[in-house]
Amino acid sequence: PKQAYVRTKPHLNIGTMGHVDHGKTTLTAAITKVLSDRGGATYVPFDRIDRTPEETARGITITISHVEYETATRHYAHVDMPGHADYVKNMITGAAQLDGAILVVSAVDGIMPQTREHALLARRVGVEHLVVALNKADGADPELADLVELELHDLLAAHGYHDVPVVRVSGLRALEGDPEWVASIEALLRAVDEHVPVPVRYVGAPFLMPVENVLTVTGRGTVVTGAIERGSVAVGDTVQAVGLGEGFTAVVTGVETFGRTMERGEAGDNAALLLRGVRRDQVRRGQVLAAPGGQAAHRRFAARVYLLTREEGGRSTAVTTGYRPQFHLRTTAVSGRVDLREEELALPGETVEVVVELGKAVALEPGLGFAVREGGLTVGAGTVTAVLD
Ligand code: GDP
Ligand code: MG
Repeated sequence: PKQAYVRTKPHLNIGTMGHVDHGKTTLTAAITKVLSDRGGATYVPFDRIDRTPEETARGITITISHVEYETATRHYAHVDMPGHADYVKNMITGAAQLDGAILVVSAVDGIMPQTREHALLARRVGVEHLVVALNKADGADPELADLVELELHDLLAAHGYHDVPVVRVSGLRALEGDPEWVASIEALLRAVDEHVPVPVRYVGAPFLMPVENVLTVTGRGTVVTGAIERGSVAVGDTVQAVGLGEGFTAVVTGVETFGRTMERGEAGDNAALLLRGVRRDQVRRGQVLAAPGGQAAHRRFAARVYLLTREEGGRSTAVTTGYRPQFHLRTTAVSGRVDLREEELALPGETVEVVVELGKAVALEPGLGFAVREGGLTVGAGTVTAVLD
């Protein structure tokens, strides 16, 4: 039988962000290594994190790796993503719901374009707490590192992040077991423990989990994975799949997290749900599993959309009514048509009220955030203000 997951400590979702090659994956591996020596993690080597199989579902490829570890006071699920586009997609769509993030900045190279973009992105998607890992400190001139640290405080303050702890680390040297740098990782984890508060979870709300992945486990049936957005779920509960077609109702016959069984999955958990009598092809990434009757699929909605400027990675030209980008909502992407209503055009840098008609119905509700993308670029970030039909 599988081991049970015992909820003894608060669970938080965090992740590494930052410019390519600044050492996010190396640091992720180093954290698991340092904690595995203390019994708080299973060591996950660099190659296992960076070579997560790509999940291709309905035309979107997403790449995201989850590792888990425990400090003295918390249980963490930690995500690392290989490319900038993966951050944009996973963060804006809320596929990675981060309670806090570790912004990795190379002390040798300093602030780079994706450092700026990720700070902006973190603010836009509501990541309230950041800790900086000033990485590659093993090879950096300390005075240069001081300068990078000053510039970082300015950048972060400009996005409303104040008193952000900056910890000088070396993921690479910690992985090699160098005691000085192992201690730097411990200091980083202490900063995360202290600076990122346990979030308020909507455990009491009706259950909702966006479908991230679907697999068949031989002899057991269909397993659906995702991050529980709100509420809780236990064996014996009935859930309803909503969006992208007809949907279905099914009974949950197993709840697991990171390969261990759970009595009850709660908001904030990464869960795998075993569903009775459901075929794999009935479930799709982009649907939501919800408490019966609580959610409905819609195609039209009103929204407020901020159009990213070219400097933020967005468009350089205006959009007009009839514009047809992709809308990334929770774990799916659907094409849709934009109606600007009274406005003739909307320029990058503006926030506009629009009506959107999607090509397919998905679960929608006021307050839901989404990303607007075209040709591999994120051009807008929006919030649903009203569901129309
Ligand atoms: P990512 O793209 O942010 O995930 O960066 P990686 O973790 O893949 O690291 C990029 C490169 O930087 C690799 O060659 C690493 O070995 C190197 N690197 C990562 N961390 C450190 C560090 O702390 N010190 C030094 N000197 N090199 C590092
Ligand atoms: Mg990486």
